[in-house]
Amino acid sequence: MNILVVNCGSSSIKYQLFCMETQNSLVSGMVEKIGSANSLIVHHKGKSTYKSKVYFEDHFTAIEKIAALLSDSEWGAISSKADISAIGHRVVHGGEEFKSSVIINKDVLSRIKFFSKLAPLHNPPAYNGIKATMKHFPGVKQTAVFDTAFHQTMPQEAYMYGLPYKLYEKYCIRRYGFHGTSHRFVAQEAAKELKKSLGKLKLITCHLGNGCSIAAVKYGRSVDTSMGFTPLEGLLMGTRCGDIDPALVGYIMEKEKLNIEAVDALMNRKSGLLGISGISNDMRDLLNFAKVGNKRAQLAIDVFIYKVKKYIGSYIAVMNGADAIILTAGIGENMTIIEKRLRKELSNVIGKKIKMLTIHTEEERLIAMDTLKLIRNKK
Ligand code: ADP
Repeated sequence: MNILVVNCGSSSIKYQLFCMETQNSLVSGMVEKIGSANSLIVHHKGKSTYKSKVYFEDHFTAIEKIAALLSDSEWGAISSKADISAIGHRVVHGGEEFKSSVIINKDVLSRIKFFSKLAPLHNPPAYNGIKATMKHFPGVKQTAVFDTAFHQTMPQEAYMYGLPYKLYEKYCIRRYGFHGTSHRFVAQEAAKELKKSLGKLKLITCHLGNGCSIAAVKYGRSVDTSMGFTPLEGLLMGTRCGDIDPALVGYIMEKEKLNIEAVDALMNRKSGLLGISGISNDMRDLLNFAKVGNKRAQLAIDVFIYKVKKYIGSYIAVMNGADAIILTAGIGENMTIIEKRLRKELSNVIGKKIKMLTIHTEEERLIAMDTLKLIRNKK
């Protein structure tokens, strides 16, 4: 049985086809810059890569090309579209409604569209992607796996902001958290590695990529996470500022004569590692610059690590202890220098009681596994 996983961004689509019997990823790829003259598709099969510059007007044309490649005699892995049993979609926001993955029907689709009000940049492309796969793979079951769902177990004391309660009632203003599929996946893998039941573990999962978030996972349930109403809250990220004094928004707008869109762009796209260093949002670049004495690159790294440490400490308090800290995503998985520093700086806290593990996150695999479970239960 083959399951296709699709992850639609505003101008990109990532995809991966899994054979569920062998658990192997058969082919994968990404369409980039949809809607621009430079759009292209990069497709991987084994160690070979197919790359083509094609003009993709929208998600519909991109999905059409992906569908053709999947059954291509040279680059594909299946003989026809009929060999795909189901399609799992990553959807960023499921509001308070979706607490787990679901099979998409008309109602679910309209709710995904409805939650665009909470994720205006992310839910509309997911919605378009689902419509496109429905058109190009008619009759194939589709599922939605939400980034927010895993954090729906957070207690109210963790998700409420100290704002007037009526804003929560009127506009659903609360903390939601994101990267839920990644936190859930690495928590499950950590339990396997620790040879303990997930239901007995207190874990702190650190997804440190371009976007960064930390979650406190107590007995298999997320009880707090660093991202909030949007992915802007929490840690210092590649280009996002993370936690700041909210009064700064108005202050910066006034001082820099910025409107709301401009200050939003400043905080989301010009801040974080990039903003402090003035050089790059990429940790690899910053480590290289810091090595040759660049002080701002070093400062960006120091602030980054400091915030990670602060959240880890607070989540040990939240759960009244921890069994393991899990590092994952680009920075978490590949930067031993960051890991070493965290180990050193947390050495007294960690002691022998708290383990530190690095685990490769595979959100797509979990989406495929959720999809399989859902379509099996349906039968
Ligand atoms: P995204 O959130 O875009 O998926 P990633 O998880 O790929 O991001 O993480 C990107 C960050 O990880 C960058 O800061 C980059 O410097 C760092 N990184 C370190 N080593 C690697 C690597 N081998 N591959 C990708 N990113 C890496």
